[in-house]
Amino acid sequence: MQNYLDKFKGTLMGMAIGNTLGSPFKGKLREEILLKFKDFNDFLSKNRNLFKTYTDDTQLTLHLTEALIQGNGFRIDNTIKEFILWLYDPPISPSYERLTTIRKLERGIEYRNASTKSKGNGSISRVAPIGLFYSNNIELLKKTAELSSMITHSDPTAIAGSILIARAISYLIKLQDNNIFPINDFFNILIPSISNIDENTQGEYIGALEKLRENLDLSANAGLIKFSQIGVKSPFFIEEYLGKAFIHPYSVSTIICVIFIFLNNLDSFEQSIISFITAGGDTDTVGTIGGGLAGAYFGYKNISTDLIKLVKNRKYILDLSERFYKTYLSQFRKLI
Ligand SMILES: [Mg+2]
Repeated sequence: MQNYLDKFKGTLMGMAIGNTLGSPFKGKLREEILLKFKDFNDFLSKNRNLFKTYTDDTQLTLHLTEALIQGNGFRIDNTIKEFILWLYDPPISPSYERLTTIRKLERGIEYRNASTKSKGNGSISRVAPIGLFYSNNIELLKKTAELSSMITHSDPTAIAGSILIARAISYLIKLQDNNIFPINDFFNILIPSISNIDENTQGEYIGALEKLRENLDLSANAGLIKFSQIGVKSPFFIEEYLGKAFIHPYSVSTIICVIFIFLNNLDSFEQSIISFITAGGDTDTVGTIGGGLAGAYFGYKNISTDLIKLVKNRKYILDLSERFYKTYLSQFRKLI
């Protein structure tokens, strides 16, 4: 039987590791990052002070997990309360948009009015715990991923992205990392998960996912150049980065690049993480989302102690994972 506790720990720790390692490279082109080192482990051992902390992506993921535990599942009021508590953590490198939205919630503004109609990847970066918790109830998973996005990102692009990543996590925790990865099956479960989203948004994601499926054999550089521009328009577009590998914080391009990197690095957690954090652009968030997928697939048992030791508050994250797993068992024991 699958060790789900190991997968829960792997997902949350994987996110924290990807976020911690990705944040110093944020905003740089892939080619600029790769100039910094030949061997990443060597670079890491000499520059550990660069990688001191995770950022707001992990902080909000941990708060969402606390909210799921308190409510024995997702509740809007618990989640808003936890997001407001984040303001006092205090937030680490938050975007202005994220801060203002959550400050509005603190002032008592209803979430539908506080939320931004953003197509950015912020709500996607914290959705993994929903994928874990509702892995045995896909209808609830979809509904919950949608609601959790609505609190801050109400555009269907962000909502569909949140559903896709939650669905991916729910799928990956059921796989063994030593079997052949069922790539076609993975695409075939992702695509219908957004069937309730409006036609335009759905069409954009499905078109991009199909293009990715056909181009999985591209080299890392060629693939990232191709997919980092996919659907990117104002306010995310940066003309000087055309033809370069640089992942914008736009939901569609973020997700397509993350899945491209993930499916091309199925040999080890470590290689997977290095590929996420060197991809260029929004590397802190790509590291978080990608680290979640890699952690869900490889499990905690396959993450090296060296990487775990980098993570701030790692004992708290492990304790949280255990409490979260117990809550999950209390709700879904019959289904597992
Ligand atoms: Mg980011």
